[in-house]
Amino acid sequence: EIAIRKPLIAGNWKMYKTGTQAVAAAKQLADLTQGVTGVDIMIAPTALSLPLMAAALGKDAQVRLGAQNIYPGTEGAFTGEVSGPMIKDAGADYVIIGHSERRQYFGETDETVGSKIRAALDAGLIPVMCIGETESQRDADKTFFILDKQVSDGLKGFDLGDLNSLVLAYEPVWAIGTGKTAGPEQVKEVHGFLRHLIKEKYAEGLAAKMRILYGGSVKPGNIKDLMHIEDVDGALVGGASLNPADFNKIIRF
Ligand code: PGA
Repeated sequence: EIAIRKPLIAGNWKMYKTGTQAVAAAKQLADLTQGVTGVDIMIAPTALSLPLMAAALGKDAQVRLGAQNIYPGTEGAFTGEVSGPMIKDAGADYVIIGHSERRQYFGETDETVGSKIRAALDAGLIPVMCIGETESQRDADKTFFILDKQVSDGLKGFDLGDLNSLVLAYEPVWAIGTGKTAGPEQVKEVHGFLRHLIKEKYAEGLAAKMRILYGGSVKPGNIKDLMHIEDVDGALVGGASLNPADFNKIIRF
């Protein structure tokens, strides 16, 4: 069985760029990526910039949009939060869930990740579920234990049909924003492990089609090697996605 997995190159802008800057960068990126085929492209700006960028890019743009977070509920008295239907209405197709910064600084757990994935699916958004071990967990040989736990607990209660669109993003925490990328052997080993885990927990068909992205200091200079690794179906890019010229190079791996 040959799986056709269309690569996804996703940019996580984190808390960078005002709306004005976001629109300018989106337009630049749309120009630069003209003619690119065979790859899905996504940018996740702050939620405030989503409607502005959606208007600037247009409905059929190749550059798609994502949110960086979602509240697990459609509406209600939850000051400061943004729901799935709001994200969808603002023009996004994707939402990043459980990024290590959310886990580290905002108390997100595998349980909250699960409820946010549910909210994303209910709103018709594609969840990009982030997992990854810290440096001390890797040093203690707990990498696979941690990844298994993040996947198992985060996806608890989901059945096969729920997960058709789900994207997994493996981001070793020690490689995020540090300039360190995991070595090719480490990446290959983890991505293979994750695909096998999905196969064991769900089904071979789901495992074969699920996109598993790598994230952590992805740059124009290392994307080609990363994309050559078996089971790497794209990248989640932080710092290097802020510059449209760099991000375009990554998209054209
Ligand atoms: P980085 O961030 O590319 O700046 O390391 C990746 C991420 O946090 O998704």
